[in-house]
Amino acid sequence: MRILVVEDDRDLNRQLVNALEQAGYAVDSAWDGEDGQFLGETEPYDAIVLDLGLPKLDGVSVLKAWRKAGRKTPVLILTARDRWSDKVEAFDVGADDYVAKPFHIEEVLARLRAVLRRAAGHATNELECGPVKLDARAGRVTVGGESVKLTSHEFRLLSYLMHHAGRVISRNEIVEHLYDQDFDRDSNTIEVFVGRIRRKLGVDIIQTVRGLGYILSPPGGAKA
Ligand code: CA
Repeated sequence: MRILVVEDDRDLNRQLVNALEQAGYAVDSAWDGEDGQFLGETEPYDAIVLDLGLPKLDGVSVLKAWRKAGRKTPVLILTARDRWSDKVEAFDVGADDYVAKPFHIEEVLARLRAVLRRAAGHATNELECGPVKLDARAGRVTVGGESVKLTSHEFRLLSYLMHHAGRVISRNEIVEHLYDQDFDRDSNTIEVFVGRIRRKLGVDIIQTVRGLGYILSPPGGAKA
């Protein structure tokens, strides 16, 4: 899962990026409305954290531009506590949720998990595929109740596939949602990651769809 943080307060921006990276997301950041708008319109983020008070272009205008361009990315806005009219305006132009400043980083993480799973059509943080369970909150994977240790990249990849179970996901799509924009991307490494995840899980839930990518389905389930 890949997240964009648009926040002009440098300290807060860094705090958010660190917390999100620690929670297992790939993260890009922007410090003004123009850069934020550009990144949000051109990169396929899974969710965006958007401050409303931004230099160059304010958050509401940024969000309006994304929605006008047809971007449906879930957006969590950051607002000052007393500015209720900002919140109303932001929701009216397409915000999905908000956090009032000052906030606890845990609240931002919880709200992000919620918008991510809602966007993928899931009601809880626990995703299941056959005997495999992934807890997006605890960052934990179990197979038949036994805990499986994955690296952060492996977890991020499996989490993306589990959020989008039943749909064919191309290697390019995985690369775009697995790494931040500064990462030296190589879609060949995805095969290596998938191989490792398959070995660690020990059950056959990631099917290769030749020439197209991968699809997650329970063992013995319908294959694509
Ligand atoms: Ca600000």
